[in-house]
Amino acid sequence: MARNYIDNYREKGARKKLVEELAKKGIEDEHVLAAIGKVPRHYFFDETFWNQAYKDIAFPIGEGQTISQPYTVAYQTQLLHIRKNDKVLEIGTGSGYQTCILLELGAKVYTIERQEKLYEQTRRVLPHIGYKKANFFLGDGSIGIAVHAPYDKIIVTAGAPTVPDVLLRQLKIGGIIVIPVGDEKSQKMITVLKVGENDYEKVELDTFRFVPLVGDKAW
Ligand code: SAM
Repeated sequence: MARNYIDNYREKGARKKLVEELAKKGIEDEHVLAAIGKVPRHYFFDETFWNQAYKDIAFPIGEGQTISQPYTVAYQTQLLHIRKNDKVLEIGTGSGYQTCILLELGAKVYTIERQEKLYEQTRRVLPHIGYKKANFFLGDGSIGIAVHAPYDKIIVTAGAPTVPDVLLRQLKIGGIIVIPVGDEKSQKMITVLKVGENDYEKVELDTFRFVPLVGDKAW
């Protein structure tokens, strides 16, 4: 694969325009917009497709998976209200783009991917492009990662049939999970705030279309 890691004026300009576009589409969190403005999204693309990297679209990354649409990444990240040093579990590493956004916001990231090829590729690429601090795991994230729980925040980047109870149990009190829930065709973005040991506040938001979350507590 022809990967090249040069961030020149053309890419920087396109990235700035993308940030402006996301702000116009309703992303308000300045920290999230600044993170989108910093992470070179074209590094996650073959050089042949750099002209696609700053369009607000999802794009194939192999293994039948996609790098999420920038709007979706910004939308989910905004809902997490990341604070510096938050311990965040990301389920569905994919390309690692979302991981880099979380790292830019100062989170401590635990990220899990079920597809070995993507897991291997992403854990090699991220340190190479300057994002050295993520903790990578291979496996079924629908059951979380119990040994590292509890988490301040959990983000699920694939569509689930329900909010798995096991993930709610791995949240700290005051923690938030952001997860798309629905059928194969469309999902509602759901946020759940854990207000007490067995007490949750759930909010249902906009409709999206994700690849399926595949696993023991998923499809
Ligand atoms: N945020 C990622 C990015 O920007 O590249 C996009 C992730 S992609 C939409 C969803 C990812 O979730 C895919 O890589 C898929 O293999 C992964 N996935 C699906 N089910 C999973 C599971 N149970 N555990 C971990 N990863 C899973």
